Amino acid sequence: MENVIILGSGIAGCTAAIYAARANLSPLVFSGPQEGGQLTMTTEVENFPGFPEGIRGMELVEKAKKQAEKFGATFKTDIATEVEEIKNGFELTFMSGAKLKSKTIIVATGASARWLGIPSEEKYRGRGVTTCATCDGAFFKDKEVIVVGGGDSAMEESLFLTRFAAKVTVVHRREELRASKFMQEKAQKNEKIEFVWNSMVSEILGDGRLVNGVKLKNLKTGKLSLFKCDGVFLAIGHVPNTRIFQDKIKLDDKGYIVADKFMRTSIPGIFAAGDVQDTRFKQAITAAGSGCKAAMEVEKYLAENE
Ligand code: NAP
Repeated sequence: MENVIILGSGIAGCTAAIYAARANLSPLVFSGPQEGGQLTMTTEVENFPGFPEGIRGMELVEKAKKQAEKFGATFKTDIATEVEEIKNGFELTFMSGAKLKSKTIIVATGASARWLGIPSEEKYRGRGVTTCATCDGAFFKDKEVIVVGGGDSAMEESLFLTRFAAKVTVVHRREELRASKFMQEKAQKNEKIEFVWNSMVSEILGDGRLVNGVKLKNLKTGKLSLFKCDGVFLAIGHVPNTRIFQDKIKLDDKGYIVADKFMRTSIPGIFAAGDVQDTRFKQAITAAGSGCKAAMEVEKYLAENE
């Protein structure tokens, strides 16, 4: 039986792995569908302490993984599909068919990009509609794109897209951005970025193959208008990856794991870290901090229960 299995290899999972490995718990980390988590989809991380020049998100998690491996953590690529309580621990079933037993679990499965939920979005997914500017931005050289959302991600994606696109239009459902002042100002100063306020995308338009525009609805007047563009980047937040824990661990009404300040969930022996339990801060540094706390609490829990 393992001491601790960590589900998720984002910055929370990697930090938990560093601490658990240094406590001689030989943690086993399962990377899940998106190895490295959300940071692999961002560009420059400018607010992680210790990197005054900024660091690429991908580089940050790769370094954290290497650091965990150096202390004895093992990383595997598989996705947990079921968790059952057994005597003195848990049995996890994975997509590969593997079954493993562990005394404790740290859930650091993060959150995935939210989609608009309109039928045409499904039709043009990967044909001009995407949630990842760093992955797909280069396909839009000299094209016109829109970014939907008003948070830090929307600002960051818009700024990144100005490297390629001829014009970037941010479509936001209110007339005030949610993003931090710093990011707002950076985006507003950029000559390639324009804003459409109080509006939402009601339909994605295309020629059957690729996107060629959107239908916008002004939420104040109700008026519909056509807007020509070649790409639609969605940056409208995230939903927590907690499907396999539904009806098992206590979740809040939005599906986030409810964890206490010691990162304990409603099931003794299962801890949570990172965006899967964070309804408020959602920063790389807070995810890392919660991973550290979860691993330290696992160590304490194992000492008390053995
Ligand atoms: P967010 O802060 O939750 O912002 C989501 C945005 O999408 C909001 O402006 C929201 O509008 C809008 N939205 C949500 N659902 C929508 C829908 N169905 N249709 C249209 N618009 C919708 O998410 P985020 O920007 O991904 O950021 C998440 C966290 O990561 C934040 O804490 C942020 O600070 C952090 N982050 C930081 C950085 C950085 O520091 N450089 C970069 C990226 C992310 P409303 O404003 O009206 O709610």
